[in-house]
Amino acid sequence: LQMALQRGEIEIDYQPLVDLQTRRCVGAEALVRWRRNDGQRVRPDLFIPQAEDSGQICAITQRVIELVLQEQAALLRQHPHLYISVNLAAADIRDAAFVAHSQRLLTKYGVPASQLLYEVTERGLVDVQRASSLLQAQRDSGHRIAIDDFGTGYSSLSYLQQLPVDVLKIDKSFVDTLGSDAASSPVAPHIIQMARELGLKVIAEGVEHEAQACQLLSLGAQVGQGWLFSKALDAASFRAFVARHG
Ligand code: C2E
Ligand code: CA
Ligand code: CA
Repeated sequence: LQMALQRGEIEIDYQPLVDLQTRRCVGAEALVRWRRNDGQRVRPDLFIPQAEDSGQICAITQRVIELVLQEQAALLRQHPHLYISVNLAAADIRDAAFVAHSQRLLTKYGVPASQLLYEVTERGLVDVQRASSLLQAQRDSGHRIAIDDFGTGYSSLSYLQQLPVDVLKIDKSFVDTLGSDAASSPVAPHIIQMARELGLKVIAEGVEHEAQACQLLSLGAQVGQGWLFSKALDAASFRAFVARHG
């Protein structure tokens, strides 16, 4: 991984985020990929956990942010309503230098903090008190914060009110069972209702079918992400997607 970072083998794909009502593109999630020198692309599930264990995840996150800005700063300046969503690991949230570092990069590329949204998972929030103050610092500097894979952790409800967050991302597993007989099928509707009561926005992940998009919209979710709209795209293809659907 150290070599991968040095050799520039880290790449970003962008999966469009789409307004469920208008079907226009509102942004993208940055998804990291490792292109080995044999040309093979390693999926993040295979190296992110390792990077978390070895402590290299913070360097990867910084690289991801820098690549996003390198590749998309012009697009972001041209479309001030667009945002890119970046995944943070637990170590990034604990890293006191993180806020200053990302601020430096944003200034360098002339992109406001409001155009970078940070996704954190419940795993990253175990120490709620500490996470809360660091997330607040990011929010104070203009970023929005989303809780990723919401509902798959164990303590979702208890910390929601204590944390400075703006968006809940509903996990694909709950979108999959929407409208089915599965025991988890009422979960997505409940999450959306709760988000509304707390004044939070909802992004639904893994939307594959038109019926899911319609149902999510009627339940009150604002944004969708999934193969129905687009798979993850390389940097240039995402810009083309924005030109067609922006
Ligand atoms: P995630 O954050 O939950 O990302 C969504 C994953 O679902 C992505 O897989 C995406 O390609 C996939 N997906 C999106 N829409 C659909 C759909 O309609 N159907 C199906 N079957 N799958 C869909 P990907 O890119 O393999 O990422 C896997 C995980 O790796 C991510 O899950 C995230 O936890 C982690 N990851 C990705 N990029 C980063 C990063 O830059 N930093 C960190 N720390 N983790 C990352
Ligand atoms: Ca994510
Ligand atoms: Ca997710």
